[in-house]
Amino acid sequence: MPTSRPAVPDKWQPAFEAYRERMESALAFAGAWLLLVTVALYHVSHTYFHHHEVDLGHLELWLRLPVIIAAALALINHHTGFPRWPARYFLRLMGLTLSVLALSLLFLFARYEPLMVSEVSDAMTVAFFGATVLGLRSFREWLLIALLPITLFALAAIIADLPALVLVAVFIGPALIMFVTCTLMMFVRNIAIHGFLSREQLNEMATTDTLTGLLNRRAFMELIRQEQARAQRAGEPFSVILADLDKFKRVNDTWGHEAGDDVLKETSARLRKTLRQQDALCRWGGEEFLMLLPGTDSHGAMIVAEKCREGLQISPMDMHGTAHTQTASFGVATCTPDEAIDHLIGRADAALYQAKENGRNRCELASPGA
Ligand code: GH3
Ligand code: MG
Ligand code: MG
Repeated sequence: MPTSRPAVPDKWQPAFEAYRERMESALAFAGAWLLLVTVALYHVSHTYFHHHEVDLGHLELWLRLPVIIAAALALINHHTGFPRWPARYFLRLMGLTLSVLALSLLFLFARYEPLMVSEVSDAMTVAFFGATVLGLRSFREWLLIALLPITLFALAAIIADLPALVLVAVFIGPALIMFVTCTLMMFVRNIAIHGFLSREQLNEMATTDTLTGLLNRRAFMELIRQEQARAQRAGEPFSVILADLDKFKRVNDTWGHEAGDDVLKETSARLRKTLRQQDALCRWGGEEFLMLLPGTDSHGAMIVAEKCREGLQISPMDMHGTAHTQTASFGVATCTPDEAIDHLIGRADAALYQAKENGRNRCELASPGA
């Protein structure tokens, strides 16, 4: 149930930030239009249908100006990308100007037309509804947009000696709306976060191997196709390394399948540590790993493969108290112009076979034409 705010794991924070920015951008766009239309409608209705004893017309116009400017800025940003602020700043600005507008109106009416004060209540309800919707990134945001102006208003009311009872009566409706909107928006926000998390989880399940956390075949193929296109455009080489654990069947047979799984996990961790950030590592099959090295020629790829081999051989793995040194063999292939991906991987596989033939725990480079 979306009652509490779900936690977003660190690894998804950047994606979540982007998602939130998109949502806020849509809210800022819709909010800006709504504000402009509402302000225009109020203006028309006040000009033609309300006649006050004291003319607050000009003052009201001035009070609306910050709201109009904030909404206009949000729209300009939406369409031109200028000013380059994140959408939440526009939301803050619109919410704040809206709260200030509602409270200033109340102040003016309480001061100059006390009998008409209840008339402001409707406008306040709408304004506080809007301000609460716009300010609900977090509770802190909402305090800034709603409670800060209200506190200032309370101070001004005390200084101006406004009738407290009347003000409290006017506040009840808008305060209720604020509370309801706040609760509702909290639910909406939590549902959105749950939706985001479900999507990420599904995506992760579809693209990663559960045992090792590495990319699976499908995700890797997508990456390697992108890399081939990029490399062709940039005129750069790229290489793949196929690794296969040596005599791995023996690990399973001697210590059991679970110990075998531990070796696979430790192998993944060591390979990942050896590779660069931009290199991709995938679990290609049972105990086979495929690596993609963007921008790397065969000389560089052989050095990387040798490092990976050394990283496995250099120290034994701890298998519940038993030390086991797991080695692997490596087949390296660098993509030739217009080569099909399957052919490239086939060449790496042939080189790997050669490494096994030549005694295991070694790296072999595939010949370009094979
Ligand atoms: P070689 O040096 O020729 O590669 O010998 P090998 O024993 O590693 O090769 P082979 O392909 O005959 O055996 C691979 C073994 O890997 C068979 C299977 O039991 C094991 N294996 C495959 N996937 C998993 C897995 O997910 N977990 C565990 N524990 N073992 C696996
Ligand atoms: Mg194998
Ligand atoms: Mg093997």
